[in-house]
Amino acid sequence: MRTMLRRLACLTALALSGHVLAGTALAQVDPPITLDTHVDIPFTYMHESRFDVGKATPLLVDLGKMERGGLNAAFFVIWVPQHKLDAAGYAKAVQQAEEKYDAIDDMLMTYPNRIRLATTPAQALANRKAGLLSAMIGVENAYSLGHDLHRLDAAYDRGARYVGLVHVGNNDLCTSSLPDTEHGERAMNSPGDHGMSDFGRAVVKRANALGIMVDISHASDRCVRDALAVSTAPIIASHSGARAVLDHPRNLPDDLLRAIAAKGGVIQAVAYKEFLKKDSGREASEKKLQAQVARAAGDAKYDSDKHDYLPAMARGMAEIEKTFPLPTVDDYVKQIRHMVDVAGIDHVGIASDFDGGGGITGWTDASQTRNVTAALRRAGFSDGDIAKIWGGNLLRVWGEVERDAGR
Ligand SMILES: [Zn+2]
Repeated sequence: MRTMLRRLACLTALALSGHVLAGTALAQVDPPITLDTHVDIPFTYMHESRFDVGKATPLLVDLGKMERGGLNAAFFVIWVPQHKLDAAGYAKAVQQAEEKYDAIDDMLMTYPNRIRLATTPAQALANRKAGLLSAMIGVENAYSLGHDLHRLDAAYDRGARYVGLVHVGNNDLCTSSLPDTEHGERAMNSPGDHGMSDFGRAVVKRANALGIMVDISHASDRCVRDALAVSTAPIIASHSGARAVLDHPRNLPDDLLRAIAAKGGVIQAVAYKEFLKKDSGREASEKKLQAQVARAAGDAKYDSDKHDYLPAMARGMAEIEKTFPLPTVDDYVKQIRHMVDVAGIDHVGIASDFDGGGGITGWTDASQTRNVTAALRRAGFSDGDIAKIWGGNLLRVWGEVERDAGR
């Protein structure tokens, strides 16, 4: 009976939407929009032919995989690694961020009939309606502002619509959930964890004024509380998990999930293996493999951009998988269920972290995106719930941040 009712609901929705996945026994209707808030890109994105995303690539996200998998929209991320807080470090970070903005521009100019930039929620929906993919832009590690508030305005002009305050290691805005303790930074939640700096507060206020979402993924617990106190608009976690389900500093404790929701924000649950399942055997094996692949390529050190997409890495990872299996899409949905129970159905979304370490069994790349929808349905989420989780919530928050800036 339940199946029949569901089928009826599917058919009704199908008649309304016209979107259907061909070839499945039970017609599965796509949500109104599927939006992933965290997709990384290598520094040579679009420059090396193997990273030309209009063609088949070894990347977990390219245009073909998005189209086939029904992933309609993604925030592509301007990530830079953390280096020293000095003039040379800032200059390098600024330049590295420029390379990534240019690479995204390159994609948009090369494939205008397949993917368009969306700088407003309305544009993302219009692109979807027109049958086009949407690219949005998010900053990960505001170290790339080079300690200059004007660069946040420049980031806005280039299309950035969220600003992730910090990454691994403390920076000039915030303490990190993973401080560089090997080089003297104090552990998260220790007396030496000072949270947000004056520059961090200035960035949050300027982001509010511009209409850029403030993203607290990677920030220390204290920095999250500071961001909640300083921001006049709702804030987001662009890719974070739930610490009550899996105890990892990158995952958010329940009180912060609730606090982000209470301020009207959204937590985008991340499909990153280490935040879903503890597996020290796998971590050690992966480290060993990375060193081996780097050595075989003639490099002293492992570099994810350079080595992750080599055939030797794929072969090695397949071997590791036999002994230490990845978490599954159902493990991922368990975290989503917990977040919904704690923060509410209006405050949870989806992030893959593809090409930045993301990828789990059942959602190994963007071409398998419909498996996430199917797993949500298996876990009992309604089509209405799924529409919120797959993008409705994020678009609502984005719209509120826009309106807050307008005031
Ligand atoms: Zn990240």
